Amino acid sequence: MGGKRPKTIITDQDKAMKGAIAEVMPNTIHRNCLFHIKNKCYNKNLKVFAAKGNDGLYEEFEDIVNNCLTEQEFEHLWEEMIKDKKLEKNKYFTRMWEMRKRFIPVYYKNDFFPFTQTTSRSESTNSRFKDNVGPTYSIMSFVTEYQRIIDTIERAENLEDHYSCQKRPKELLFGYTIERQAHELYNRNIYSKFQVQMQATSTLTYREIEEGKAFEVWQRSNQVHKVHRIRRYIVLTDLTEGKEEFSCICAKFSKDGLLCSHVLKIMIEKEISKIPDKYIIDRWRKKDMRLIKQRVEDTTVKTSSLLRFNVLSRMSTTMNSKVAKNAEATVYLMAEMERIDKHLDNLLAPPINDDSQNQTTTETQVQTEGNIENQESSSVQLLEDPQVTQKKGRPEKAKRFKTVIEQEREKAKKKETNKKKQITANENSGQYHI
Ligand SMILES: [Zn+2]
Repeated sequence: MGGKRPKTIITDQDKAMKGAIAEVMPNTIHRNCLFHIKNKCYNKNLKVFAAKGNDGLYEEFEDIVNNCLTEQEFEHLWEEMIKDKKLEKNKYFTRMWEMRKRFIPVYYKNDFFPFTQTTSRSESTNSRFKDNVGPTYSIMSFVTEYQRIIDTIERAENLEDHYSCQKRPKELLFGYTIERQAHELYNRNIYSKFQVQMQATSTLTYREIEEGKAFEVWQRSNQVHKVHRIRRYIVLTDLTEGKEEFSCICAKFSKDGLLCSHVLKIMIEKEISKIPDKYIIDRWRKKDMRLIKQRVEDTTVKTSSLLRFNVLSRMSTTMNSKVAKNAEATVYLMAEMERIDKHLDNLLAPPINDDSQNQTTTETQVQTEGNIENQESSSVQLLEDPQVTQKKGRPEKAKRFKTVIEQEREKAKKKETNKKKQITANENSGQYHI
C-alpha cells in the first residue's frame, strides 16, 4: 500500500478481521457493513416484520437506520420503535442497539465512507474477491490474484475515463453553469450521482434563517412519492468572496465527497455560478482534471525536469489557493518563500574554485561585449574532452603480453623489412638519376 494506511475500512462482522485491523492499522476507522447487518436482521426476524400489529415496522426501521441526521435523533426514534413494537426482548434488535456505533451511518457521517449506503458498491467488491480468491489459496497466489483484481479495477477506471472524454455531453438537466462544470470535471459514474442530487433539488423548498448564513431546506409536501418522515436540513454558508463555505447537517460531502441536494438547492437559489474547487475532490475527477497526480514514480521525477516542474507547479498552486483566502497565512507563506528562495540560491550556486571563477568571468565578458568571436573563443575554453564511449559490438579482447623470444623475433623482422625498403629506395633513386 506504499506505506499508506486507509482512513476508513468496512468489513462484515468477522471477529478475526476486527482484531487484525485494530492491531495492524490502529488509526484506521473500522466499521461493519450496514447491508449485511440489515439482511441478517430480516432473515432472523421474518415473523416479526410480517406480524399483523407490526405494519410499517419495515419502513420505520429503514428510515431510522438510514436517514437520521443526529445521534440524538437516532437514539430517540429507535427507543420509541422498540417500545411501540414491543421488541424489548428481541435478541437481534438488542444486539444491534449494543453495536450501533459500528454500523449506523449517523455515527460516522463525518468520515469518508463513500456511497456505502448504496449496497451495490460493497457487494460488487465482495463478489470479486469471493469469486477469485478462495480460502485454500496460498499466500503467494492470493497476492497474485489480488494484484490481478486491482489491475482489472484500474483498467475499468481508465475505460470509464476514456468514455468520459469520448462520449458527447449528456443534456444538462436544468442548464445551470454548475451542472456544466460538474460534467467537465467529474468522471461519468460520479456525474450520474451528481445528477441524482441535482434532480432532487426540484422537489425541495427552503427558507433563509439568517441572511446569507443559515438556511432550512426540506421536501415539498405536494409530491406523489412521499418520504416516510419529512426532515428539515440545515445548510450553513459563508458566501464571502474567497471563502465560499457550504455545509449541511446531512454531511453527505464528508461521507461521499459529493455535495448534497440541500447545498445544491441553496447554490441554485443564490445564483452561485461555480462550485468552489474544494468541493470537487480529486478522487472523483476525470484523470486529466485532477489537481494532484496520483502516482508519481520516484525514478521518473528524478530523471525528468519537465515532470519535476509540473509536480512542483501543482503543489504550489494547491498551496497558493489554500493560503490566499487568509491574509495572515499569505504573509507567512510569502516570508517562507523568500527564505526558501535565498536558501535555494545557495544550494544551486556553482561550487567556488579558481577554474569556475575564470569561466564565469569569460561568460560575463561574452554577454557584455556581444562579440561573436569572443563567444567562440570562450566556448572553446569551456569545452571539455569528450567522454570516451564504448564501441559497438563485442568488446575488444585485451592484448596478451608477448614473451621475450617473440619480442626479439619481431625486432629482427622489422630490421629486415627496413633493410629491404632502404635497398629498394636506393635502386629507385638510382633510376631517376640515370
Ligand atoms: Zn444535505
